[in-house]
Amino acid sequence: MASVMKTSHHGGCPHDCPDTCSMVFEVENGKLTAVRGNREHPMTRGGLCVKLKDYEKRHYHPDRLLHPMRRTGPKGSGQFEQISWDEALDEITTRWKAIIDEYGPQAIIPYSYLGHQGLVHGLNGGDAFFNKMGATVCERTFCGEGSCTAWLLTVGPTAGVDPESYIHSKYIVIWGCNSVSTNLHHWHIVKEAQKKGAKVVVIDPYRSRTAKEADWHIAPKPGTDGALAMAMMHVIIEEGLQDQDYVDNYTEGFADLAERVKSRPPEWAAEITGLDADLIRQFAREYATSQPSAIRLGVALERNYGGGQAIRAVTCLPALTGAWRHVGGGATQFPVWEHPYKFDVISRPDLIPEGTRVINAIQIGRALNGEMDLDVPIKSMMCWNANPVTQAAETDKIVEGLMREDLFMVSAEHFLSDTASYADIVLPASMGAEMEDMILSWGHLYLTYNEKCVESPGEALPNNEIFRRLAAKMGYQEDNFKWSDSECLENYVDWDAPACEGIDLAYLREHGFAKLNVGTKDDRAPHKAGNFPTPTGKCHFMVEGATNFVAPPFRQMYEGFQPGEPIDSLPDYVASRETPESNPELAQKYPLNIISPKSHGFLNSCYANIEDKIQGQGEQFVMINAVDADRRNIQSGDQVRVFNDRGGFEGRAQITDDVSAGIVVASLGYWRQLNKGTVNCVSSAEFVDMGHAPTFTDNLVQVSLAH
Ligand code: SF4
Repeated sequence: MASVMKTSHHGGCPHDCPDTCSMVFEVENGKLTAVRGNREHPMTRGGLCVKLKDYEKRHYHPDRLLHPMRRTGPKGSGQFEQISWDEALDEITTRWKAIIDEYGPQAIIPYSYLGHQGLVHGLNGGDAFFNKMGATVCERTFCGEGSCTAWLLTVGPTAGVDPESYIHSKYIVIWGCNSVSTNLHHWHIVKEAQKKGAKVVVIDPYRSRTAKEADWHIAPKPGTDGALAMAMMHVIIEEGLQDQDYVDNYTEGFADLAERVKSRPPEWAAEITGLDADLIRQFAREYATSQPSAIRLGVALERNYGGGQAIRAVTCLPALTGAWRHVGGGATQFPVWEHPYKFDVISRPDLIPEGTRVINAIQIGRALNGEMDLDVPIKSMMCWNANPVTQAAETDKIVEGLMREDLFMVSAEHFLSDTASYADIVLPASMGAEMEDMILSWGHLYLTYNEKCVESPGEALPNNEIFRRLAAKMGYQEDNFKWSDSECLENYVDWDAPACEGIDLAYLREHGFAKLNVGTKDDRAPHKAGNFPTPTGKCHFMVEGATNFVAPPFRQMYEGFQPGEPIDSLPDYVASRETPESNPELAQKYPLNIISPKSHGFLNSCYANIEDKIQGQGEQFVMINAVDADRRNIQSGDQVRVFNDRGGFEGRAQITDDVSAGIVVASLGYWRQLNKGTVNCVSSAEFVDMGHAPTFTDNLVQVSLAH
């Protein structure tokens, strides 16, 4: 009888989720047979979400791409023929060299995002290659960039409150985050704190899964959070609830802030937010007087035009009240600011030729379809770890661009996604257990190791190997293109940083994870005496000469950002672009504001092609209030069309008072090829006020019965 060889290996969930769960891969005879959460990990605690609990099935799914392919039918038809790696790489590099000869390297654009969060194979994995080429730089500001700009202006690149320290918080505000679906392992800690007596407040314009479990759900109109935060500061200062000693010693600009909020009372905010003025007063008083209070800033906060200013206002609150003095007091944006990664070594921005243009990933449709005025047209795009046809904005324009016969499109993918189906050459990419990496986390303070423990099926290759082979064919000689994955990890992390004391790659290989040396959950209070990583060491309520800027993703920089246009030196409420109040003319045609949160069952657009995950998530739905449904003669279960001038999609109506009149909610992630449009058909590619972040929830639509 043949013997069975069973082994266990350390892994990390590579998906675009703050939790970055530590996992255990179970392997039998060279095949991944099970994936489970690592019970040793103090934060992720052995639990995996519904998306990942059978991750091994994703590795061996029958639709997985196994071989390089060349398009044989019309673009988007899904007709391909199998070719060899040599043929694929020869064809790609021959076409690129010809494009570079005729148009210059900027006619080529890379496109990637956090489909994989590894340092080696993830978001930045192809940067060095395309920077060496001199390709157009693709500015990736999908998620959190407005928040980063606002946070850095106010408190600098600090991880803020350790998510694990919320166990010590007495008052927890989850502001613009559906943690139950998108930050589950932080939510466990919040629930434990709640059991110990903490009050949990969730701020969200609709009653999300998380809001249903809160002690108090506050539902301002979409995009009005800035008004709520400004009015809270009005109440706190008017009633003398600020920590004056903290303010005097560790903040800048209090007098100017106090002057600004004088004219932002709760009655003013009530008009804007739709909340009761007394409710705002009560919230401000409770927040200021229940210490330690902690605010978890969600990405959703930034997704209306005034999102950056809203986050600046919210970020002022913990310094105003002195919440930072306490363990479990303050705010959390992205803990990744204190992870010691060497993004300059990973991305090699030094290789970018001077004067290289930048095109934003959210506006890729406008760049591809000719709407954007470009000196050099885009003649080729390579996409990996991303699915813009589903996830970017104005997606009809992206499809229009990808249909161009003169566009040479390359995709490295696991499945024939909405985007890959338009490619000329498709490259099969390796998946989690098939490649060594370290998975960054933007939601906790642990390093997470991922061991390669099985071979890739078919001819799939890790992203980094694809770029190594492309670099060899292009004749690029830099060290980055010669390092093995292990050597990359040695070079990509600042192992000598104080945060890494006692941690090295050998330790991670043995244990799977390690908490950074930045304080423990029971003693970390990084700003109890100021010590903010800003130029003054203080929290900046006011920033003299403030300018907009785009923070390079996941790079720990504060000085040297490229300055943009001047912005308000103080936080304030800034109205959204598309609301009945700000744009009554547009609202005549399109009276409903759409919110498109991440779905519970998909991970962005990952898993939205997997049958049992689709069953778990259910078909595309459109949550609508009875008032709005009645006006349109819509019954629950009707197929409805949601549309505006940018496009439309269909979904099944759910009549519910979880959404207020004037709002509809439809989850993102569904694949266009399996549905009638997706939510991003209606979303605008305009930016918010800071960081070139997207306005994904600043969109007016109409809803009608589908024909
Ligand atoms: S998607 Fe998030 S919660 Fe789910 S396993 Fe991955 S890191 Fe954990």
